Amino acid sequence: MSEKINIPRGTFDILPGESSKWQKLLNIFCETANLYSYQEIVTPIFESAHLFERGVGEVTDIIEKEMYRFTDRKGREFALRPEGTAPIVRSFIENHLGKEYAPAKLYYFGPMFRYDRPQKGRYRQFHQYGVELIGSNNPYTDAEVIALADHFLKQIGIKNYTLEINSIGCDKCSPVYDAALIEYYSKHKDELCGDCVKRLEKNPKRLLDCKNEKCQLIGKEAPSILDYLDEDCAAAFEKVKYYLNLLKVDYIVNPRIIRGLDYYSNTAFEFLTTSLGSQNALLGGGRYNGLVKQLGGVDTPAVGFAGGVERLLAVAEAEGISLVDSGNSGIYVANIGAETIDYALALCAEFRSKGISVEYEIDKNNFKSQLKSANRLNIPYVCIVGSEEMEGQRFTLKEMNSGKQVTLNRSDIGEKFNNWPKLSVFEAEQTC
Ligand code: AMP
Repeated sequence: MSEKINIPRGTFDILPGESSKWQKLLNIFCETANLYSYQEIVTPIFESAHLFERGVGEVTDIIEKEMYRFTDRKGREFALRPEGTAPIVRSFIENHLGKEYAPAKLYYFGPMFRYDRPQKGRYRQFHQYGVELIGSNNPYTDAEVIALADHFLKQIGIKNYTLEINSIGCDKCSPVYDAALIEYYSKHKDELCGDCVKRLEKNPKRLLDCKNEKCQLIGKEAPSILDYLDEDCAAAFEKVKYYLNLLKVDYIVNPRIIRGLDYYSNTAFEFLTTSLGSQNALLGGGRYNGLVKQLGGVDTPAVGFAGGVERLLAVAEAEGISLVDSGNSGIYVANIGAETIDYALALCAEFRSKGISVEYEIDKNNFKSQLKSANRLNIPYVCIVGSEEMEGQRFTLKEMNSGKQVTLNRSDIGEKFNNWPKLSVFEAEQTC
């Protein structure tokens, strides 16, 4: 036997029992995004490494430590995408989406890659869903993307979460706040973790985000951004809150919320869950007015969010939410005797042409084992064909729950199965 090859560390397969939950989640996300008139965008899973260096910022963990970089055969530097926003902005600029859509309202769903130390809930290939609204600075749009996220979580049935919002100011007031943070934290430099000492010089707001207990304790007394917002930023933040109230989205203001990535400005928000212990960030986002210009486009304001699919599934499970469709209305076709196989297969095709999900197990040639299988698979209807049915061009349909049986003509499939299973053939026919 040749050597077994295993899956790469930090990755996982989505197996059949799980994949239906993923499908359901994706469907709910697409439906919700459509309710708000967002359209899907799909970008490649690898891009020029410089896109992320410029777009995400070189002084972030994602770029410094976690990027899957590789050089192709011609020596070009690429990276597996660690996040979705920079590629979408690249596409927005490259395809002149700003001309066609003002604003562009986009959503995405797909794999992301970070060379992180694998641990529970942290993978090297994971999945994110998100939206980007590019081309408006109206505070209503901040509220709209937040409302969409809130709507999505509610559609799934998630209950134990809170929305925290903040404003991190613009390129005028944010540096003033940074200076205040530098002044404050410099007094505590000896007590900070190594990462925070570095951040102090390059990205002081990120000190507020540090998970180290000591840094968090020091952060409690740090100046609040809300005292440093200039008039325009303060007014915009008031408007965001006004529209959130109008859209009936509950929130609390937390001046400690910042976003880890460089390109954010003004509104920052996080949906936090209490269902998972320490990994409490369910979904995060904010306004990134500087990014389009930073990536070579015309100065264009934008706002968006991203969330982790694995974490969302873990929260749904912790909250006892079933993401398995209970409305299975399929038919299991079972046949008696080898001579009826072809007739059974023909019926399968006719049911499927009516949009009915059909299971037929060609390798199970024993009627009893077929019935057992239908039970095990939880398929609610069984279509039984024996030689008598075949000769009369008929079939017997059994409702597994009630045990009711009815014999129908093959031609009934065309006439009576249009609204299956709503139009129950068991009510119309005499049962035996
Ligand atoms: P970020 O893009 O870092 O703001 O992360 C947004 C969300 O993506 C987080 O709240 C997580 O749910 C998820 N996420 C980020 N990194 C990972 C990872 N390595 N493994 C699994 N999920 C992740």
